[in-house]
Amino acid sequence: MMKYLFSFLLIFLLLYQGCSPEEQHTLIGAKIYENSGSYKLLFEQWNDLGINTGFCSQKLISDREFMKEAGEHNISTFVIFPVFFNAEVLAKSPDLSAINRNGEVAAEEWVEFVCPSREDYRQQMVEHARRIVRDHQPDGISIDFIRHFVYWEKVYPDRDPASLPVSCFDSVCLNHFQHETGISIPDELKGIPEQADWILNEHVDAWTTWRCQLITSMAEAIANAAREEKPDIKVNIHLVPWAEEDFNGAIQKVAGQDIEALSELSDYLSPMTYAHMVKQPPSWVHHITEDIFMQTGGTVLPSIQVGKAYLETEFDLEEFRQTVEAALAAPSSGVIIWSWERLIAEPAKIDLFKDIIKAN
Ligand SMILES: [Zn+2]
Repeated sequence: MMKYLFSFLLIFLLLYQGCSPEEQHTLIGAKIYENSGSYKLLFEQWNDLGINTGFCSQKLISDREFMKEAGEHNISTFVIFPVFFNAEVLAKSPDLSAINRNGEVAAEEWVEFVCPSREDYRQQMVEHARRIVRDHQPDGISIDFIRHFVYWEKVYPDRDPASLPVSCFDSVCLNHFQHETGISIPDELKGIPEQADWILNEHVDAWTTWRCQLITSMAEAIANAAREEKPDIKVNIHLVPWAEEDFNGAIQKVAGQDIEALSELSDYLSPMTYAHMVKQPPSWVHHITEDIFMQTGGTVLPSIQVGKAYLETEFDLEEFRQTVEAALAAPSSGVIIWSWERLIAEPAKIDLFKDIIKAN
């Protein structure tokens, strides 16, 4: 039913965009983590390029000069707020790590997650978000790593869904799961691998629903705290770039992201559609954007990569052009580039980006 409704909305949007001579309020954003030069020059360059929104590290958001110059140049500021990825905390408290179905710490290269059931950690993160909003008054909060452990950056189209990691099976999660669903793991199953297999074989739907709720409730608590401090703050949520049916429903079964529920509590959904990195063509960016829009009717802001990442294969100007254009196609509400640092490293891409934005 919802899908039919959003199909009509999509057709309307396409017609509207095609006919209207008016300027659209398109969000053109850049993720920015560091800046070594003058903020004034930075934002003058953004004004020139048509970038109107920064998705900024906490370090930059905490810098008064950065915020002052952003305001003077009409640049909106979102603070990027990572939730369950926290290398610093895990280095000090390794017992907080999420646990995989083999009973091991869920980790791959740099990716390691905090168990999403730890009440103290959750409270600390909510209070941390509240403090940033109170102290620095950003225009938005961009909630990142709001999901379960998965190294999706290296999940390619031919990946066997059964090989994707599912977590967290530590005792805290297993106790909460049993308590909150009324499902009891049989006493004779002693080790985590046996218990995990039993849950995934016998109660996978309840498990998925429960895991999604852990993520949704955390996003909601952060959004509520931010809005208590600043009622008009915008909330953006970073999504794993998977369509509803991809990898056998892994967006929920693996990442634990219930797109519809997350859409209801946020202003924007931003899939990390880094096409080149996951061996997809530029048109895939539009495909994912459309899929999320059809599920939610929400405001979708695809984030796209600028430079090479993880793969050594060439990412040339033509592919970049097609990627930016795919990202801006309706029903998208804009584009976020990942990242400003990568863009300034490739001057030819800056010129191309500017041309596309101006023409849009
Ligand atoms: Zn856990």
